[in-house]
Amino acid sequence: LGFLNRAIFLSSPFGAALCWRWNLWKVVNAMKNTNKEKKSFRDKISTIDESGKRIWIFPKKPKGRLYRYRSFVSYFLLLIMFALPFIEINGKQAVLLNIFERKFIFFGVGFWPQDFHLFVIATISLIVFVVLFTVIYGRIWCGWACPQTIFLELVFRKIEYLIDGDALQQRKLKNAPWTPKKILKRTLKHSIFYGISFLIGNVLLAYFIGSERLAEIITAPPSENLSGFIAMVLFSLLFYWIYASFREQICTLVCPYGRLQGVLLDKKSIVVAYDHKRGEPRYKGKRERESGKGDCVDCNLCVDVCPTGIDIRNGVQLECVNCTACIDACNSVMRALKKPEKLIRYDSYEGIETGKKLRLNMRNVGYSIVLFILLSILATMFILRTPVETTILRTPGVLYQDAGDGRISNLYNIKIINKTFEKLPVKLNLKSPEGEIEVVSGEINIAEGSMAQTAFFIKIKKDRLNSVKTPVEIEVLSNGEWIETVNTAFIGPNKFNKK
Ligand code: SF4
Ligand code: SF4
Repeated sequence: LGFLNRAIFLSSPFGAALCWRWNLWKVVNAMKNTNKEKKSFRDKISTIDESGKRIWIFPKKPKGRLYRYRSFVSYFLLLIMFALPFIEINGKQAVLLNIFERKFIFFGVGFWPQDFHLFVIATISLIVFVVLFTVIYGRIWCGWACPQTIFLELVFRKIEYLIDGDALQQRKLKNAPWTPKKILKRTLKHSIFYGISFLIGNVLLAYFIGSERLAEIITAPPSENLSGFIAMVLFSLLFYWIYASFREQICTLVCPYGRLQGVLLDKKSIVVAYDHKRGEPRYKGKRERESGKGDCVDCNLCVDVCPTGIDIRNGVQLECVNCTACIDACNSVMRALKKPEKLIRYDSYEGIETGKKLRLNMRNVGYSIVLFILLSILATMFILRTPVETTILRTPGVLYQDAGDGRISNLYNIKIINKTFEKLPVKLNLKSPEGEIEVVSGEINIAEGSMAQTAFFIKIKKDRLNSVKTPVEIEVLSNGEWIETVNTAFIGPNKFNKK
């Protein structure tokens, strides 16, 4: 139709009605799509597109107070992590987790398979601790102390920003042809990434096999320590792959703690949250600002800085690792607009809904007390743990023997566990009543971290026995030093009872 014919047609009642219906259909469809879009974030992961392909995230470099604090915390934790396998306490590596030789050291104290009960209690306490801690404080661990977040966000990404630039430059560089500049940048970045991964792999290996063994592997030719050398290379490659390629997928797809968030968090849990009451409805232009809209200017900065590519304004999501980058970003926007900060902040869903300030409530205090008690019980068990564990039982099926020299003897079985790192010569001394101990094997020597088992006689003069069952106290000594006292009973015949 020509312009004139179109004008005549649209001005007719039929044309106008058709046109109105067409526009209405377009508006309704647009609204439907927007609603679908709004809710669809729950059905997909922000780093995977509909065809299942990876969406590479280019987060903008975070800046702000919380990022600074997180950096300081990360330097401190990294220092501890790198130092622990190389410092000695009581002449032993500070922390060793040698699962191959079943030997564990925590701050100079050795633990052996015989301490399995402690390990079980510690594991149960840890699980309860993690559950309670998450119910109260959400994913604070993920954002501030998790090695994955620390290495990715505060080590590898910092290097990336330094070499490749901020998000925009990174994006441009990725799409740019392979010029000498791009080759140089990529080579430099990946060499540094591999170097740090090699370092992490080695430190991790030092935790498992010990720093001395690691030094042997590093200094000897690979052929002499082939298995150690292969482990070292594999660890380094694994970390390089994680930080150069797999990245945030560890948190969103692999980490079991992340998967559990759905059942651990509730309305009172403290999370990184967007104050939708204050922020909505969003506005963009100055005209809207004047018409009483919310504080969010829809600048998208909180999404741009997010390392997992989500929009926190959609609510709590499993991908959110509580890194606080969006808090810093939004605070900077609010400062520029001369509005109060904390449109995105640490708060609970209930806190946002009711507008009450985040305070420690009875539930949080109660859970924290339970956490404290749990840790105290565990600490007490570790402190009270003896380096030698002795079990003495009367030999089953044997009552007593008349030694024929005026003495009565009882036969006992003894089991001694040496939890120290030294060979222990052990002596038994009968503290009460007066009598003598005769060890069947002559001497008791226990190798480090092992158990010795033998039998011994206690011989007591008949006139020293007061009843059928006389309590006896046996001292366990090593190199003349008292280790522990064990109580048991001595059986005598009825006729020796006082008449
Ligand atoms: S940074 Fe703040 S103002 Fe900007 S979109 Fe996010 S919530 Fe809205
Ligand atoms: S939503 Fe905010 S806190 Fe959560 S991962 Fe993204 S930037 Fe970090």
